[in-house]
Amino acid sequence: MSNPMILVVEDDSTVQNLIVPALETQEYRYCTAQDGTQAILEAATQRPDIMLLDLGLPDMDGIEVLKSVRKWSSLPVVVVSARSHEQDKVSALDLGADDYLTKPFEPEELLACIRSLLRRSGEEVSADAGETVFGDLTLRQSTFLLRCGEREVRLSQRE
Ligand code: CA
Repeated sequence: MSNPMILVVEDDSTVQNLIVPALETQEYRYCTAQDGTQAILEAATQRPDIMLLDLGLPDMDGIEVLKSVRKWSSLPVVVVSARSHEQDKVSALDLGADDYLTKPFEPEELLACIRSLLRRSGEEVSADAGETVFGDLTLRQSTFLLRCGEREVRLSQRE
């Protein structure tokens, strides 16, 4: 299996220069986007394993990127933002972000967050289109397998 691919959505080169070397220490592959349009394009074409998403982007709010990507993908998203307002955090999580990092953060904090998401998503729960994720719950439509953490339940077709 090839190394995880991380999409870094960040228009601030200072922050990008903090994130990229941290990813390189782990030999993660990465691609970058400087605005929302490019972020959505990269998410669709590169099929990253995780997206790190800045909220303050030049062309649109990161929240709009999240909303758009969530329409077709359960790709794990970590919102990385200087906004520390509780409300921003809550709306990001409500819209399907998997985690939230407030700037400034330590590279170690970011890597721990990525590790935890990679563990959670694992190989089977990868972001294929046949799965729906609600928080800890993952539903695989083809097999009607509902997973919650370590537990798995097979649903009948009707359920
Ligand atoms: Ca920004």
